[in-house]
Amino acid sequence: MMMRRDFFRAAAAIPGVSLVFNTTAPAAAQEAAGDLDPRIGKLIASISQERLGAILKKLESFETRNTLSSVDSPARGIGAARQWIFDEMKSYGARLQVAFDSHRVPKQGRITREVELRNVIAVLPGRTPRRIYVSGHYDTTARPGGQGAANASGAPRDPDAPPPAPAEPNVPLDNLAPGVNDDGSGTALTMELARVFSQSGIDFEATLAFICHAGEEQGLIGARLHAQQAADRRIPIEAVLNNDIVGNDRGGNGIVDGATIRVYAEGPEDSPSRALARFVQRWGGRYVPSHRVRPMARPDRFGRGGDHSAYNQLGFAAVGFRESRENFTRQHDVRDTFEGISLPYLAQNARVNAAAAATLALAPPPPIVVNERGQPLITRAPSGYDANLRWAASPGAVAYRIFWREAWGPDWQHDLLVGNVTSAVLPNMQIDDYVFGVAAVDAAGHESSVSAYVSPPRASTPVTEL
Ligand SMILES: [Zn+2]
Repeated sequence: MMMRRDFFRAAAAIPGVSLVFNTTAPAAAQEAAGDLDPRIGKLIASISQERLGAILKKLESFETRNTLSSVDSPARGIGAARQWIFDEMKSYGARLQVAFDSHRVPKQGRITREVELRNVIAVLPGRTPRRIYVSGHYDTTARPGGQGAANASGAPRDPDAPPPAPAEPNVPLDNLAPGVNDDGSGTALTMELARVFSQSGIDFEATLAFICHAGEEQGLIGARLHAQQAADRRIPIEAVLNNDIVGNDRGGNGIVDGATIRVYAEGPEDSPSRALARFVQRWGGRYVPSHRVRPMARPDRFGRGGDHSAYNQLGFAAVGFRESRENFTRQHDVRDTFEGISLPYLAQNARVNAAAAATLALAPPPPIVVNERGQPLITRAPSGYDANLRWAASPGAVAYRIFWREAWGPDWQHDLLVGNVTSAVLPNMQIDDYVFGVAAVDAAGHESSVSAYVSPPRASTPVTEL
């Protein structure tokens, strides 16, 4: 087997590859580069199927968690549910900073009366303010016929349309809406990750935030308010892993798939969200090889939405995890109960999230590959026919990994680990024929997401004529 150090020498010696090479990069760091981190493996192994099940049963016991439901009952409705989520995450230990992210929302759209909306957020401070989010929504909805009836009707109507307005909008909307999969599953996953990350003893580079949104069923209201606040306060959210409907492996058509998970990511093809989806596929696939990540090159399913889109709309990288085979008859319906959950499947999805979030939070920030004007730092120098890549050094990086692929198709095809350098030349590689990217790697081998070299869209100047 080739030692890491030998690999570095070998890479430098590949004919036709001339790298601006720093031979003083720490050898120990190079040897470790690319290896899986046993601490992340241990964190993933500590995810408990039993705890996920217990959280789901507790969430179901509130009978409804509709954003417009009762807040006064100690045992039923969204008021009791959010207080329990808050107290439960607080019980995970002193490292977690648990808070209500509260907003007063006036009547608008599907919000039929003024309500106080509360997201529940647990922050695990890291060494830097860079933030990685894991999210779900704890609010629920149910209406006659549920999502099954909405899908079966051929008419092109909005499947997330609100139920008919109650006769008296000031009366709490307290009809039974258990929402165990939608989105108890994403809520339980988020809470369980808050527990295992905060109890892991790992000192993370990035700050992690575990957020259970409300108001999703009224149009991503809680996520939109939180994302807007983060944008206003310039909170550097680097990635959002949103989980919504991730606990069932049996399609309503009878097809079962408990071994894959879909990850939706908006374009264009080298957008930060697509880079995040590729990252989840790469690192989820390494730490949890038995669970296949299926990136989806679109924002979400047809006619459906999720909280990641609220972050996308403000320019944050965010992806949506969705089970591979949905049972629409249980969604937005009184039948969305614990019986519809596969705990082994939910636990696998939690492990993939954990692998991606932990790797991101331990890795250096992704390299900056553009200049101040947003132009990619890629040229054909020195021969005029080469691929000449430059990037800004990422704090904490001891090496960089260059990726490339044919300028057609979504997946990276080749990669090359280089030393602690900020440029590389690949001779006779025509930059017009490939997409290039670069990731930062730290001393323990944690790798950032890949920054791709893409040209910004050109502004069109109107042509005048006489
Ligand atoms: Zn949902």
